[in-house]
Amino acid sequence: MTEQNTSADTLIRLSAAQLSEKLRAGEVTAVEVTQAYLDRIAAVDGQVNAFLHVNAGEALAVAAEVDAIRAAGGAEAEALHQLAGVPIAVKDLIVTIGQPTTAGSKILEGWHSPYDATVVERLRAAKMPILGKTNLDEFAMGSSTEHSAYGPTRNPWDLDRIPGGSGGGSAAAVAAFEAPLALGTDTGGSIRQPGAVTGTVGVKPTYGSVSRYGAIAMASSLDQIGPVTRTVLDSALLHQVIGGHDPRDSTSLPEPLEDLVAAAKTGNVEGLRIGIIKELHGEGYQAGVENRFNDALELLKEAGAEIVEVSCPNFQYALGAYYLIMPSEASSNLAKFDGVRYGLRVLPEDGPMTIERVMGATRAAGFGDEVKRRIILGTYALSAGYYDAYYGSAQKVRTLVQRDFEAAFAQADVLISPTAPTTAFPLGEKLDDPLAMYLNDVATIPANLAGVPGLSLPGGLADEDGLPVGIQLLAPAREDARLYRVGAVLESLLEAKWGGPLLAQAPDLAAAAAETLETQEAK
Ligand code: GLN
Repeated sequence: MTEQNTSADTLIRLSAAQLSEKLRAGEVTAVEVTQAYLDRIAAVDGQVNAFLHVNAGEALAVAAEVDAIRAAGGAEAEALHQLAGVPIAVKDLIVTIGQPTTAGSKILEGWHSPYDATVVERLRAAKMPILGKTNLDEFAMGSSTEHSAYGPTRNPWDLDRIPGGSGGGSAAAVAAFEAPLALGTDTGGSIRQPGAVTGTVGVKPTYGSVSRYGAIAMASSLDQIGPVTRTVLDSALLHQVIGGHDPRDSTSLPEPLEDLVAAAKTGNVEGLRIGIIKELHGEGYQAGVENRFNDALELLKEAGAEIVEVSCPNFQYALGAYYLIMPSEASSNLAKFDGVRYGLRVLPEDGPMTIERVMGATRAAGFGDEVKRRIILGTYALSAGYYDAYYGSAQKVRTLVQRDFEAAFAQADVLISPTAPTTAFPLGEKLDDPLAMYLNDVATIPANLAGVPGLSLPGGLADEDGLPVGIQLLAPAREDARLYRVGAVLESLLEAKWGGPLLAQAPDLAAAAAETLETQEAK
């Protein structure tokens, strides 16, 4: 290995906060950092398939611009954002000018958005080079990224396992050191569950605190864009860039964000009441997940937190309610993909060329099975004869879940649970069993139904399979800062125990790639 390789390898393993310091101190240039990540993508993404599109030219141009501003000094250099020059990857559900946006679907293959999502505008304003667009389950429907029309993403901890979903691409990119930061979207867990199974940090902000303008809508009352990172502080830094009011999103909260970065830096749990949600652990959770969860509780207790148990009895109905509300909203949101206005158009092979038949042929060819399943489910739940029985009942459950949260937050400042019931499962294992797939989100869905924020952070490796386990923290709406305060403490306690970040224990993908190449050459 050459000296330059060694330093590039060190660079890609730094956190965004560390990179930002090095950039500002002039120890590295933004072009060096961006190039190191692009090289890493070239070296390992053939194995991981985290990226659907790599945006090398533009990313390097933005980096060069940051370097030029910094070199010139003066007011413009002073005004550079703290994360200027720190690269990022964007889930391909979020629209971007100058790069394709596919939503993981054939129906949008080759489509380019004429506008940027608000969060993307904010990344550009901060001059963060966008490395590319990451893989996802088609239209964000799934928990394994296997429903992507462009092939599954693989888990960097074990390439035969799923990276979670729907945002498996963003989580795997960050876990495989192909990006220091990424954006995800979370409708029922798509940021947090991939975070859990890849050993990364993922945050679903309070509903309305990050603009959804330009995130292709799945279920508008549940969707939220949020950070995917390797550290809690990095999530706070990124959340601060993308968050805050946006007049273009009618559900955007008017008030400014609290200082999330300060919260992550002044973590303290002394005297804090942390509530274990009785219904979200124990039976149905893998033993190794439960063990790491208990370890985390022990550490928090030692650090001065008071652990209490809370009960949220209606959470048992949350998954069922979600799978009525989410498909109902999706069936309406996806009606715009009709072969007329966007992307793919397939003409019927024979017979009359009516608009209905063009639409039918386009949707039959353009949508995958899971998307079709949910459109049918949603249309059915919303149909006149069944509306009250299904959609109406689900909305009532949603209110009950919100009330459970209110009662729980009267007893505890934050709530805690495992993020997902199991570690990463083998590719293909649940692909033909939608119900088994849906169960992965049993612990993450309640937060979406209630609009409260959630953070998942690595809790260690399960004893039985050596794979990452996620710990989820939940706070009341608008109290995202609390998640960072507690998350940062738990992270530092855990890392002290492990002797460094959990991802340092992940297999070395670049070495594996080099080895495969060598054996192939030797043959
Ligand atoms: N896995 C869940 C689903 O398939 C959540 C998806 C998401 O959060 N986008 O609906």
